[in-house]
Amino acid sequence: MAKILIRGGTVVTMNRKREVLEGADVLIDGRRIAQVIWPGSLSPRGPWSKDFGGTRKGPASPGGRRDEDEGSRFRSSRERCCSSLTSLSGAEGARTGADSGTGGEGDIGAYSAGMDHNGSCGAALGAEVHELPVGVHRHDVDMVIDAAGKVVLPGFVQAHVHLCQTLFRGQADDLELLDWLKKRIWPLEGAHDEESVYWSAMLGIAELIRGGTTSIIDMETVHHTESAFWAIDSSGIRAASGKVMMDYGPDVPATLMESTEDSLRESEALLERWHMHDDGRIRYAFAPRFVVSCSDRLLARVRDMARAAGVLVHTHASENRGEIELVQQDRGMRNVVCLHELGLIGPNLVLAHCIWLDDEEMAILRDSGTKVVHCPSSNLKLASGIAKVPEMLEMGVFVSMGADGAPCNNNLDMFQEMRHAALIQKVRLGPTALPAPTVLEMATIGGARAMGLEDEIGSIEPGKRADIVILDLDAPHAVPAEGVDVVSRVVYEATASDVETTIVDGRVLMYRRKLLAFDENEVIREATRALRRVLERSGCL
Ligand SMILES: [Zn+2]
Repeated sequence: MAKILIRGGTVVTMNRKREVLEGADVLIDGRRIAQVIWPGSLSPRGPWSKDFGGTRKGPASPGGRRDEDEGSRFRSSRERCCSSLTSLSGAEGARTGADSGTGGEGDIGAYSAGMDHNGSCGAALGAEVHELPVGVHRHDVDMVIDAAGKVVLPGFVQAHVHLCQTLFRGQADDLELLDWLKKRIWPLEGAHDEESVYWSAMLGIAELIRGGTTSIIDMETVHHTESAFWAIDSSGIRAASGKVMMDYGPDVPATLMESTEDSLRESEALLERWHMHDDGRIRYAFAPRFVVSCSDRLLARVRDMARAAGVLVHTHASENRGEIELVQQDRGMRNVVCLHELGLIGPNLVLAHCIWLDDEEMAILRDSGTKVVHCPSSNLKLASGIAKVPEMLEMGVFVSMGADGAPCNNNLDMFQEMRHAALIQKVRLGPTALPAPTVLEMATIGGARAMGLEDEIGSIEPGKRADIVILDLDAPHAVPAEGVDVVSRVVYEATASDVETTIVDGRVLMYRRKLLAFDENEVIREATRALRRVLERSGCL
């Protein structure tokens, strides 16, 4: 596994003390952060402690499926991505001659050439090697990234996205939730095929990596979820994902309706195949769509299976007034109360939206440690409402953030989510309602908590997984910086295009705005082609 040194940035740690360290170095060893070096706050751990560095088992070859789709474009894309990631993690063999010369260009060039389809980044990376910090030797470092004048952040965690919907960006504008689902999204999802789900996921992941999101909780569609896992696996992003479950309700189209047993069987097979894949980078999460489209029997079985496997349950709840009326009519109780009655409420339950809650429901969420995901852009665009985020935080409810799907947003951009989250509460409750530090907390460590990974990701601390992004804020929209708090700059000024480097699990997925793990142009081309096919099949043209 590679050893990477990020030099001299303004490190927004998001640790317990919320320290911001000016001119700090971050040392990455393999998949983990080995050390944060800053005068006066040296880590007790040695720079290259042997405790660190996971063992990569190599790219996935999910059971039996590779032979079946021999020759398809997306298979070859997957394999190229996988081999690229292998190179990313296999740099040790190239670390020779690092003590000689002025910057170890040879080994660092070799390292980057392994990551880069064009091999064009090598010289640039090598040229960045300057003086190393005390206690770090040249032969210890595979790659040095100069972050002087830049902002180093923990990667964003989007705790609610739908990668399978990225193809449908712009295909369902200006509708409210239930019409949006019934008229556009469900027919489109029902027309997906194995390849279209793959390219949809790759497109979403490209956008996420470009915008500094390193981890997601993802809800797929009813069919072809395996394809999304292939995309997650080959792209290098961290994800908990699951197939959506829909076995109930008069409005579910035939293309998506499934039997309870089929839904459970397929979910269980995906769980067995993908949970904890690649040293835990990929996890399974059961994903019943929402109470309206799930039977009590399905939800009860999901509760038991998730508990037995120790995995998340991810669903939508109380997003829309029409939705909670349907639950009230059908189940005779409010939405969160229904989930509580079914025994689903608890620390492993991740609820997207939670806009229309009464006091009793908020107390249930707080007392149970249930996780809420706030999706402000989606809530505004679908005219769903404004979640009572400050009130929930004040009560002690865990709140994280996510962009939801591309067709209800229409981006997967955490900077937009942070900005919207902060601004919409100011209109309700005044300018101090949801300050920038609280918003950044929800976008990083809050999301880590939603994933149940707060000890692994969400902050820059020794021992945690190396999920890190670097922002270059030296641009007209984000200067002057004199006297401006860096967290304010990130939340109120920065944009996704300011992210120049994205690292997940110690692998550099984007460097200087160039995606290294896969061919972005191929993804755009194939996603566009796949959409045409899905539109024709769905009848939505
Ligand atoms: Zn959603």
